[in-house]
Amino acid sequence: MRKIQMVDLQSQYQRLKHDIDAGIQAVIDTAAFVKGPQVTTFGEHLQTYTGAKHVIPVGNGTDALQIALMALGLKPGDEVITPTFTFIATAEVVALLGLTPVVVDVDWETMNISVEAIRKAITPKTKAIVPVHLFGQCADMEAILQLAKEHNLFVVEDACQAIGAQYTFSDGTVKQAGTMGEIGCTSFFPSKNLGCYGDGGALFTNDDELAAKIVCIANHGMQVRYHHDYIGVNSRLDSIQAAILDAKLPHLDEFISARRAAAARYDEAFRDCPQVLIPGRSKVSTHVFHQYTLRVVGANRDEIKAKLNSQDIPAMIYYPIPLHLQKAYQDPRYKEGDFPVAERLSACVLSLPMHTELDNEQLDFIISAVKESF
Ligand SMILES: *Cc1c(COP(=O)(O)O)cnc(C)c1O
Repeated sequence: MRKIQMVDLQSQYQRLKHDIDAGIQAVIDTAAFVKGPQVTTFGEHLQTYTGAKHVIPVGNGTDALQIALMALGLKPGDEVITPTFTFIATAEVVALLGLTPVVVDVDWETMNISVEAIRKAITPKTKAIVPVHLFGQCADMEAILQLAKEHNLFVVEDACQAIGAQYTFSDGTVKQAGTMGEIGCTSFFPSKNLGCYGDGGALFTNDDELAAKIVCIANHGMQVRYHHDYIGVNSRLDSIQAAILDAKLPHLDEFISARRAAAARYDEAFRDCPQVLIPGRSKVSTHVFHQYTLRVVGANRDEIKAKLNSQDIPAMIYYPIPLHLQKAYQDPRYKEGDFPVAERLSACVLSLPMHTELDNEQLDFIISAVKESF
């Protein structure tokens, strides 16, 4: 049996080596390392794949989130609502820009931001909502967009874990993660569902004016060289990463299918175990399984993790501390107990190995090890 990894990037590379190597070599041959044609081509291909009107590749997912908030012209003191159960980047950029992060609780089943909690957190200072499509499944976008419309708020989707996930609106319209709010953000960090071999990210928008402003902000706020219309940043996807992503994008649907097949085998094995709950599913979004995350409700989560690790099976806790209990984000507005679902999740979640190369032998080995650890 191949060694089990949380994410197996080597085996995936071996399958796609021919195209990836050729893409990288083409960049080196032309030495167009920055702003090469590969970046434009990949952006166009991703536009076709996602259905977004504009795709703006940038340096990473965190930059994408920051640039999104800058492009919306938010001002210090403006409140931005985010879930407290997420990766730190979502709230970090809010704080960095001098905006006020307002964190809210999540739903126990989908682990995504609670629409009821957003509703209660809206104040006259609220300017934006940043839902996170956590672990690969879209938050309840129809309700969030409706709420945003009622209160005149922007919606920036953190789709860093959910590229390719599809959301169905009540009128039957289907849209992809990242293409529903004013702006969507994604990450191409190597372990993400569409990962490059370094850092990368992108913004999505259907708004022409916002797209132009985003392009400008990502390039030092300049449209005409050395004329700076905005205070910007330097954030770009480099050509080698774009070439790698362009070689991988045609396989994204097949990557998603492989992840779903692994998830189905886990589901089947754990569905009737009283010790754990399988990931709850949204009725309106597909799941692309960036993570397969169990909730351990009838056993000791940390003991299971330690037993798996001792058999060379990686398992991870995403995320052990919700934002409102993080040292750097201490705030007199929040205390332990304020967001009970997020706090309970942090104490019980356990993510199992999930990637495109898991075979049944590996999956069954992981499943047996989890069951034996109860
Ligand atoms: C990965 C991730 C980010 C940040 O992406 P980077 O490319 O690592 O900067 C932001 N939000 C979420 C939810 C993520 O999973």
